[in-house]
Amino acid sequence: MKIQKISHKTLAETAAAKVAASLLDGSLAQGSQLPPERELMNQLGISRATLREALKALEENRLVEARPHVGWFARKIDDTNITQAKELANDGETRSSRTATNEPLTGPRRIPVAPEKPIHIPNLQKDRLGTFEFISWWEREKVKQAKVLIIGAGALGNEVIKNLALMGVGNIFIIDFDKIEAANLSRSVLFRESDNNRSKAEVAAARAKAVNPEVHIQYLNGDVTTGLGLGIIRRMDAIIGCLDNREARLAVNRFCYWMNKPWVDGAIQELLGLLRVFVPGEGACYECTLTEQALRDLSLRYSCQLLARQNVLLGKVPTTPTIASIIGGMQSQEALKLIHSMTVEPGKVVHFNGLTNMMHTTAYVPREDCESHWAYGEITELPARAERTTLQDLLRIARSDLGPQAVIELDQELVISLECPNCHTMEQVLQPLSQITFEAGHCPTCGTLRDAQFTHLITGEENFLHRTLSSVGVPALHILRAQNGLEYRFYELTGDLPEALHFRHFEQNPSEKTQPLNERIRLKGELHLPDSSTSSSRIRIQIKEEPPQNTVSIKPKAAPIQIKKDKKDKIKLSASTATKHIRYESVERPVRGTSNLGRGRVKVCKL
Ligand SMILES: [Zn+2]
Ligand SMILES: [Zn+2]
Repeated sequence: MKIQKISHKTLAETAAAKVAASLLDGSLAQGSQLPPERELMNQLGISRATLREALKALEENRLVEARPHVGWFARKIDDTNITQAKELANDGETRSSRTATNEPLTGPRRIPVAPEKPIHIPNLQKDRLGTFEFISWWEREKVKQAKVLIIGAGALGNEVIKNLALMGVGNIFIIDFDKIEAANLSRSVLFRESDNNRSKAEVAAARAKAVNPEVHIQYLNGDVTTGLGLGIIRRMDAIIGCLDNREARLAVNRFCYWMNKPWVDGAIQELLGLLRVFVPGEGACYECTLTEQALRDLSLRYSCQLLARQNVLLGKVPTTPTIASIIGGMQSQEALKLIHSMTVEPGKVVHFNGLTNMMHTTAYVPREDCESHWAYGEITELPARAERTTLQDLLRIARSDLGPQAVIELDQELVISLECPNCHTMEQVLQPLSQITFEAGHCPTCGTLRDAQFTHLITGEENFLHRTLSSVGVPALHILRAQNGLEYRFYELTGDLPEALHFRHFEQNPSEKTQPLNERIRLKGELHLPDSSTSSSRIRIQIKEEPPQNTVSIKPKAAPIQIKKDKKDKIKLSASTATKHIRYESVERPVRGTSNLGRGRVKVCKL
């Protein structure tokens, strides 16, 4: 995965190359007059200044000549200028054509690993990603096909998501469990004041789609440590961590190692930031960088995970949008390099100190005994789904492969019961730890933090084997481990794939456009909007009274709805897709409305 030497071409050089290539392949006749400047500018998608620079280069290489008051003419290609023409057209093309025509075949031919990028002059007026074509190593198709997971949609996440959308990274998956609050607005380019209390992941995804409708987006409102199926990570080209705590970083690091995927970590505090890339098997991993003390703290907190989960929310650090741009920008670039299989520096850290503007790189020392350094073996894809498959079903499959001793190892602790040390009361729970709130962990009678009995091994002795995998905290498209003391097997819930990984959020569904929204709205009632995963990014419903004379007053109950009244006393209600329903309180008389979802009427009537 060595990076090739970058020969950066300017716009003018690329344009000159195009003309030289046309001369060589005959599409531009030798001795003929070139089209007028304006036409050439359009054809090549460049400015007049750039065109003149290109023509100058062609003239210096004796490929074109200017005839005063007439225009530019292509010269004849002969021994005096053919070398220049080929060199100018493209080094790679020259080489390959020479191999094909001039050189005798003397033995097996060497096949180039990566054929030279063909010259393509984009139309900058119509092609939003056109300028990237001029970057010598940019591979449009690779970027378009890339799948990138962004974990965290805070200050860093906003920057990374924005950058990836701008660059046309084709498939973006965003996960975050948090909701937007006013304080996020100072550091998050994708959030608006009206987004208060909405899911960060969803809003960021919707805005990324608005920034570049050509990219495919999916979001998940959940916790990466427990809510993301490993099958999603398994299908990614790069993972970018935009996290603010160690617990989540440690989890992401392990997941990426298990799935053998590279991940890019960024961290910011005030004007300081750091960037690191971790590639399984190449240098240190995130866990290697943690001190003994930090690891002890983490394991200590694991013994009291209810508190640990609470602490994550408390550990917020002050940051600025500027350092988020710097580090988020670097993270995006590293992801781009990973997509292009370019050289990265795994196991190293880039420190950026915004106070002194000093930047330095240091390598971490990999630790032989690091607990993260495990990779899953061959993965068996089952047509099973987390919501339908029971523990018993999975155990049966594991035992047919591994024998009657096989057990299942859950990734998340399952809380069997909670016992109050004070009142000595015992409550049966059977819930994944992540679903037990801080409050629920305490005794309802005396308020003491209760002792929890956990398990993560399913041995076949349990009295809850009929429970589904999702009910014990296994996310969709997860990959589960089973072992018999000698060997492991890995089972993916591949039946979840179509729903768990689709990159189709906020995609305009053409069939839906004509589907009328023909619902009756009742006062103090709710209007159910179509599922946000398939509808357009913004729904507008216009309600006007009938007959149109008096004022209609509609008060929204839910925050994200905007109501505006125009000159003709039309009342416009608009809600984002995050709002599944619109509530309103009073309408003085029956009104009728229309929506941009279809031609059908939205009827509003009194209750
Ligand atoms: Zn490690
Ligand atoms: Zn108690």
